[in-house]
Amino acid sequence: MDYDPLNQLLVCMACGELQYSHSLEGVRAHIDEAHPDTLSLHAGDKRTILETWDEQVSQRERFFTSQLRQHGGAPTDTNGGAVD
Ligand SMILES: [Zn+2]
Repeated sequence: MDYDPLNQLLVCMACGELQYSHSLEGVRAHIDEAHPDTLSLHAGDKRTILETWDEQVSQRERFFTSQLRQHGGAPTDTNGGAVD
């Protein structure tokens, strides 16, 4: 699956549709509805797709975390040093 940093949303690799669910369940539902052929692929391929998506979700969460760290300030930062 792809990731759109501008919209901060996942994008379906198969159709390019933005995925607002941000969850594997929602992604699975979208694939099941829009791309049933994908689910009929080899189990390994399906698993790879879901694992890839799961990884994208994790990356998104890390992205948000870094954004909060940069723009939200760090009240517990004892170093007092801003990142960049
Ligand atoms: Zn799709």
